[in-house]
Amino acid sequence: MAAAAIFPMELDRRVDEFIARTHKMLIGGKRVDSASGKTFPTYDPATGKVLAQVAEGDKEDVNRAVAAARQAFETGAWPKITPSQRGRLIWKLADLLEEHLEEFAQLETLDNGKPLTVARVADLPLAIDLLRYMAGWATKIEGSTIPISFPGANYLAYTRREPVGVVGQIIPWNFPLLMAVWKLAPALATGCTVVLKPAEQTPLTALRLGELMAEAGFPGGGVNVVPGYGETAGAALAAHPDVDKVAFTGSTEVGKLILQAAAGNLKKVSLELGGKSPNIVFQDAEMKAAIPGSSFAIFFNHGQCCTAGSRLYIEEPVFDQVVAGIAEEAKKIRLGPGLDPQTTMGPLVSREQMERVCGYLDAGAREGAKAVTGGHKLNRPGYFVEPTVLVNTRPKMKVVQEEIFGPVVVAAPFREPEELLAKANDSVYGLAAAVWTRDISKAHTIASKLRAGTVWINCYNVFDAALPFGGYKQSGWGREMGHDVLELYTEIKAVCAQL
Ligand code: NDP
Repeated sequence: MAAAAIFPMELDRRVDEFIARTHKMLIGGKRVDSASGKTFPTYDPATGKVLAQVAEGDKEDVNRAVAAARQAFETGAWPKITPSQRGRLIWKLADLLEEHLEEFAQLETLDNGKPLTVARVADLPLAIDLLRYMAGWATKIEGSTIPISFPGANYLAYTRREPVGVVGQIIPWNFPLLMAVWKLAPALATGCTVVLKPAEQTPLTALRLGELMAEAGFPGGGVNVVPGYGETAGAALAAHPDVDKVAFTGSTEVGKLILQAAAGNLKKVSLELGGKSPNIVFQDAEMKAAIPGSSFAIFFNHGQCCTAGSRLYIEEPVFDQVVAGIAEEAKKIRLGPGLDPQTTMGPLVSREQMERVCGYLDAGAREGAKAVTGGHKLNRPGYFVEPTVLVNTRPKMKVVQEEIFGPVVVAAPFREPEELLAKANDSVYGLAAAVWTRDISKAHTIASKLRAGTVWINCYNVFDAALPFGGYKQSGWGREMGHDVLELYTEIKAVCAQL
C-alpha cells in the first residue's frame, strides 16, 4: 500500500517504493520468506490502517539465521576482516544512513508514529553518531601485558579481548532504528555476528538498515534480521543453544523471561529494561529551564521512553507554580499524525499501548488521582492520548509505582531532602533521574544518593554515544554506549607463556 495514500504528504520516493515492497527477512545475506510462508501486518499508528505486510519469523527462521551467523563468525568472511576494515565499514554505514536520513526518518514516523521532526533531529543523528563513535573503537579493543609472580621461571602473560561470538539482539518499538544501532554498532565494532529481532510493531527501519549494510560492504551472514513475534521468534532466539549472548531492550517482565530462557546454555545476558524515573525540582531552580525541561522529560516521544521523567517531585513552596507551568506546556503540545509538520506529539505506537496507558489513567482516577490537564484518549482514528499531569497521588498507587510508558506524569510535593530521597528511591526501577536546582553542591549530593544509572542536573534526556547508559535494580544489567559497552560484547582471554 502506498504510504502517500495514508497521509497526504509528499513522501520521499524511496519510502513509497520501500513500503510497497514485499518485506522479507534477511538471512545469510539474502532476502528470504519465512519458512512457514506467514506474514504479519505492521500498522500506521496515526490511522490504525495496515502499512505493510512483513515476513513472520519463528523458531525455524531463527535456527536458519543463527546457523548463518555462526558460519559467518567461524569460517565466513567475518573473521578475516581487520579491525581497521571493520571501522571503515561501520563509518561507511554511518555515511549511508546520513545520505538516507530523510528516507529513514519518514519510514520511522510512518511505522512508529513519532513526529517527523523528532525522527530527523533525534533518532537519526543519534544513530549516525553512535555508528561513528563505535567505528573508532574497532581499532582500539586491546588487552594488556600483566606481570605475574608464579615461581620458577619467567613468563610472558597478556590478555586478549575477543568477540563474544554470535549475539541475539531483541529490541523494542519506541526508537526502532536507534535501538537497532545501539545494539548493532558495538557488536560490529568488536567482531561479533548478529541475529536481530525488531519489535513486531516497528520492523521496517531495521530491515532497511540491513540493506544499507549490504550496500556498505558488510559480508552476508554477519547481520541477520528476523522480524516476528516475541513469544515465538524472540523466545527462540533467547533460548537458542548456539547463541553466545543475548542483548535485550524492553519491559522488565520480558527481561526476566529472557534471563530464564538464556539459562539453558548460560549465554551472556545484557538487559536494558523499564524505568519510573524521578525528576526533582527544588524551589531554587531556574524555573524558565525547569518547567519546560520537566515537560520535555515526560512528554518527549509521547512518554514512550524508558527514561521518561514520570515521577515529578517538587519542593512544596513551588509545587503549584511548577504543576501549573507543566500543565501549560502540556496544553501547548499539538497532538496529530507524525507527518503533519504542526505536530509536536504523535500517536502511541499501537492500540494495545493506548489501551494500556488508558488503563493506568482509569486506575489513577479510581484511586483518587486528579488530572490537572489531559486524562483521556482522543476520539479519532489512531492511537492518541492527551499529555496528562496527575496530582493528589499517594506513593503506593499503581500510577506512581508502575511504568506507564505514555504521556502521563505524577506530581507530588516534598519538604526535606531525606524525605525526597526516600520517595525518589522508592521504586523497583533505577534507570534515570534528574535534579533541577541552582545550588551545585546540593545537586551533586542528591545525584550521589539517587539509585539510578543516569542522573541529569538541570537537563533531561541528554544522550551521547560516549556516555554509558543502563540501569540499577530492575532496570537492567550492563551498560550500553560509551566504552563500557565493549565489555558486553567481548570475552577476556588470559595467555601465559613460559619463556
Ligand atoms: P516487550 O518487552 O514485550 O517487547 C520488547 C521486545 O521483546 C519486542 O521485540 C518483543 O517482541 C520481544 N519479546 C516479547 N516477549 C518476548 C519473549 N517471551 N521472549 C523474547 N522476546 C520477547 O514490550 P511491549 O512492546 O509489550 O511493551 C510493554 C511495556 O514494556 C511498555 O508499556 C513499557 O512499559 C515496556 N517497554 C520498555 C521499553 C524500554 O525501552 N525499556 C521499550 C518497550 C517497552 P514483539 O513486540 O515483536 O512481540
